[in-house]
Amino acid sequence: MTRHFPVIVIGGGHAGVEAAWAAANILRDHASVALVTQNPRTIGVMSCNPAIGGLAKGQMVREIDALNGLMGLAADATGIQFKVLNTSKGAAVHAPRAQCDKHAYARTVSAMIAARPEIRVIAGTVERLLVERGLVRGVQVATPDAGLITLGAASVVLTTGTFMRGLMHAGERRTPGGRFGEPPAHTIADALRALGFELGRLKTGTPPRLQRHTIRWDALEPQLGDDPPRPFSDLSAAGSPALGPTGAVPALARFPALPQVDCRITATSPRIHELIRANLHRAPMYSGQIESVGPRYCPSLEDKVVRFAQRDAHHVYLEPESLDDDWIYANGISTSLPPDVQDQIVRSLPGCENARILRYGYAVEYDMVRPHQITPSGQTRPVRGLFLAGQINGTSGYEEAAAQGLVAGLNAARAALGLPEHVLGRDEAYAGVLMDDLCTKTPVEPYRMFTSRAEHRLLLRADNAADRLTPLAERLGLLGDALYAPLRRGLFAHRRAQLEALNTAIDNARVGSRPLAELMRRPDFTIDDLVRLVGPWRGEATPPGCGGGRPTREGWRLDVLETVAADRYYALYLRRAMTELRRTRELEHRTIPDAIDYTLFPSLRSEARAALARFRPRTLGQAARLEGITPADVTLLSVLVSQWRRRHGQEPADTVPSGR
Ligand SMILES: Cc1cc2nc3c(=O)[nH]c(=O)nc-3n(C[C@H](O)[C@H](O)[C@H](O)COP(=O)(O)OP(=O)(O)OC[C@H]3O[C@@H](n4cnc5c(N)ncnc54)[C@H](O)[C@@H]3O)c2cc1C
Repeated sequence: MTRHFPVIVIGGGHAGVEAAWAAANILRDHASVALVTQNPRTIGVMSCNPAIGGLAKGQMVREIDALNGLMGLAADATGIQFKVLNTSKGAAVHAPRAQCDKHAYARTVSAMIAARPEIRVIAGTVERLLVERGLVRGVQVATPDAGLITLGAASVVLTTGTFMRGLMHAGERRTPGGRFGEPPAHTIADALRALGFELGRLKTGTPPRLQRHTIRWDALEPQLGDDPPRPFSDLSAAGSPALGPTGAVPALARFPALPQVDCRITATSPRIHELIRANLHRAPMYSGQIESVGPRYCPSLEDKVVRFAQRDAHHVYLEPESLDDDWIYANGISTSLPPDVQDQIVRSLPGCENARILRYGYAVEYDMVRPHQITPSGQTRPVRGLFLAGQINGTSGYEEAAAQGLVAGLNAARAALGLPEHVLGRDEAYAGVLMDDLCTKTPVEPYRMFTSRAEHRLLLRADNAADRLTPLAERLGLLGDALYAPLRRGLFAHRRAQLEALNTAIDNARVGSRPLAELMRRPDFTIDDLVRLVGPWRGEATPPGCGGGRPTREGWRLDVLETVAADRYYALYLRRAMTELRRTRELEHRTIPDAIDYTLFPSLRSEARAALARFRPRTLGQAARLEGITPADVTLLSVLVSQWRRRHGQEPADTVPSGR
């Protein structure tokens, strides 16, 4: 071994950087985390859409921020258009989104990682995992300078993204690669197979990029961002010197850090759809050249034309990718049709008659690990100490990758310290829903998060992410000792004080003969009404270490007003949700010993036995969510598990550890 690290993270994509960041927050020692990646210059690169957040994804970024992750800060530092989506609907589905300057985003993430003394970046491709008696011991890395080296580790987080046996398709042309201009990672797939992992293969795609000055930009309908913009991170609005210009995220000296831009909208037409139909035999998805499955919710243009044949137009959003160049991302026309067909499609879009394509759209096929082989902490079942996160688990999207990275990095560090794993509940975070879904379902297509996947979505709102998760981050040690840790603590304490004062004021207030709380359940009740009725905040104006710039009404923080307004508006539903939660929590806390051999339970139906043996659920709650398991199976399983425990002299155990 040339060197030993408590945690090694493989891959500098969105999962990898978040894993390294979280592990560094926990471990805190100099060079305790190695981030091994093929090309350190591509750390934090946005492979596809230069945007962070959106429906359900924005909620996850807020959660990542509440757990002291890096994605929210990086997006705030580099956003060129911010928009909260779904504001015409209830607060439960409000979703922040930012279009970022893709160069600035990667630069910022890279700088944030480089500024952490706990993280050592190593250039190289991991070819083998070193495993002894089912326990990971380290990795073998092919490096550009020192050839093959061996690094020892207590825990390893593997985040190969779209690179594992990546193969790119553009029309009939096939090129090995994980994304444009970057080679695939080959041997790691064989290494995983040799360790007994079941692999799958998925596909994703990206649209052509256009040159802005060749588009009739001003002739197209604009799409504007919010004014004023709202950041992801509670810290960004703080105007604190702890962030910039010499602080932890210098780009965040103020918010918004970059000039804001607008986007444009155009649309496909029956003529374009006809053109696609006439060329379907040249589309790798339809010619049989690609056999793996792509994301259903984010289909290629050829997919849309075939699947939604009744529609004669689809929106295309033209989104600037950077302030430093004139590349435009053509959102909505992801395609792997050959270049000559892409030219014709683009030039048939209104406003794009003379548009020049700077990079043609393409699809990429890659290997993934079927995620029923991990636990909700990201740890693999076949190899202890090995964690998987991101696209390798069959997900799609930067936010899904980052959320898994954070969970895996946290748990890899805990494992290195000899601490038990920490699992996020489905009622605590979208990240908990994500990890649980991955373990209880085998995605047959790339998995992305939707609000509809969360049964407790009234609880999992963007506005209350800090209330749900920052105290947990503190308990687990995730707040770390970075420059801005005191700022986060101060901001949160200030928020708690305002929440308490505001709730007390509401509980004591009446409007005429009616309690204010009752009035707040009306859909036409506004935040301005609330401020008028409770009067101004009389406590400390800003938390310690914060400058001005945080949006307030009569001294009340807007984020506090929004949370209280949502809690009061949903009060009756939330009460019902809590009752339901208490009922289901009982199952979530009843663990199933990993050592159980289901073949010894002949009284279970064979389909149930097969599902339990394949997924090996950790709790009765998880078992209940498996495909092929009925409520009757769960009742019987509960009895069988109790009998098994008695026979083996085991006491029932809880899953949720108490933290650090
Ligand atoms: C063409 C294309 C289209 C996409 N389209 C969409 C889309 O429409 N919607 C969407 O949500 N998402 C899309 N994505 C997916 C999005 O890019 C990913 O979800 C996200 O980047 C996943 O993050 P990750 O960290 O798992 O992997 P990545 O961001 O891919 O990062 C993986 C990292 O690991 C490194 N690496 C891999 N193997 C090794 C190894 N053996 N040793 C060392 N380093 C290694 C790579 O160099 C890279 O730095 C697309 C991706 C591509 C390439």
